[in-house]
Amino acid sequence: MKLYNTLSGKNEEFRPLNPAVVTYYSCGPTVYDYAHIGHARTYIFADILERVLRFNGFKVKRVMNITDVGHLTSDADSGEDKMEKGAKREKKSVWQIAEFYTNDFYEMLKLLNIRRPENITKATEYIPQMISLIKELEKKGFTYKTGDGLYFDTSRLTDYGKLTGKSFKDLVSSLKAGIRVEQVEGKKNITDFALWKFTPFRVIRQMEWESPWGKGFPGWHIECSAMAMAILGETIDIHTGGVDHIPIHHTNEIAQSEAATGKPFVRFWLHAGHLTVEGEKMSKSLGNFIRVAELAAKGYQPLALRYLFLTASYRREMNFTLAAFEGAQAAYLNLREIMAILKDSSRKAGRENLSVGKAVKAGNFRQAFTEAVSDDLNLAKALAVTWETVKSNLSPGDKYELLLSFDEVLGLDLKSAENDLQKAIPDNIRELVMKRQKLRAEKKFAEADEVREKIEKSGFEVIDTEKGTSVKKK
Ligand code: AMP
Ligand code: ZN
Repeated sequence: MKLYNTLSGKNEEFRPLNPAVVTYYSCGPTVYDYAHIGHARTYIFADILERVLRFNGFKVKRVMNITDVGHLTSDADSGEDKMEKGAKREKKSVWQIAEFYTNDFYEMLKLLNIRRPENITKATEYIPQMISLIKELEKKGFTYKTGDGLYFDTSRLTDYGKLTGKSFKDLVSSLKAGIRVEQVEGKKNITDFALWKFTPFRVIRQMEWESPWGKGFPGWHIECSAMAMAILGETIDIHTGGVDHIPIHHTNEIAQSEAATGKPFVRFWLHAGHLTVEGEKMSKSLGNFIRVAELAAKGYQPLALRYLFLTASYRREMNFTLAAFEGAQAAYLNLREIMAILKDSSRKAGRENLSVGKAVKAGNFRQAFTEAVSDDLNLAKALAVTWETVKSNLSPGDKYELLLSFDEVLGLDLKSAENDLQKAIPDNIRELVMKRQKLRAEKKFAEADEVREKIEKSGFEVIDTEKGTSVKKK
């Protein structure tokens, strides 16, 4: 399978370092506030990547972290710790904030049918590993101390910033031009970053630990390196995150990990494009901060969001509009209804023997689907193959099985559709719908129209869309 590797800027053939198992790390959320539909997009992408690897027969060992300390309001080293800020805002302890928003994140995963990675690591539970890694960097001479922390000297590396595709000089000037990095007193280079921050004088922090350099807390970047290496080893196959992680967080993960081990840290870096809402960056102050649970409370299907994200490349920026979301929901509900009808018809028809021609056809659909998802997760194409399968003349039972197997990747929970088969539609009508579809597939349009009239006379409406056919009570 091919994956677009941010490190090389190319689609590359993916093969794990150890053929027996793919090691895969995903940067997790900072749990200081509710998860929103932007997070949903990034974690659906990360989930689908794991599903595609498994679909292609790989075993996967995956870690996702929960950032519950150390992520400052600026991605670099200035500003307040987001967790402490959340605790002040809600007059709760930092630990309560972490627990509450971690659960909120898990709830979102459940609503979107995102599987939880087998290893979930909380940063606060890996402080000793972070300290050991920093000690290693200190021993190798990569660190220096300032008034507020222990820093990594990026000028000691010749390839610092390689993930950005920019030279060190260009990276420095783009950081200087940007507002995201404020200069911290005592830092030698604008690109240097904190490995360990001291608890500031006269400040009471709820989360702090003793270390060889003084009481304080780890920098956000060292957290991910330490947790990834603790479970997956010094060189891992795949690492994911959002595009915003490229210039600072992931760049610094690479710098410190490779400085400590002398080995490549990650072989494939994959990044999800951001989601905007009605053309704007999501933020509470703009009032366009949308949570998945809110959509569900308004009666929308959360999995329609998953469907919507499948329609575009994971790498591109995507703009969420209510109209596009409702369109995705209509298509998704249509697909569920088709699944329900297929299940029902196949149950009634019993097991048919697959003719050679149809077996070849089913095999071709499966191959086309596999090729699409293996082409850097071309999910829009995979969805198109799904609909072609729906419209084909395969038997209901074969279609159903094939679509369920596609759903191992798509994650649209199509299996449960059999439960929401509209009770209001009687068996004989459903049979007529299937009969008409078959006739249409065989291009017997006059006969198909007769069947349609019969259905309509019985008080039901047949709706044909590009995506397939459904039936409703008039
Ligand atoms: P955070 O909780 O801010 O650390 O973000 C967790 C993950 O969600 C990161 O990989 C971010 O890149 C990603 N993320 C945050 N906001 C968005 C957004 N609007 N669209 C897509 N991904 C996002
Ligand atoms: Zn991370």
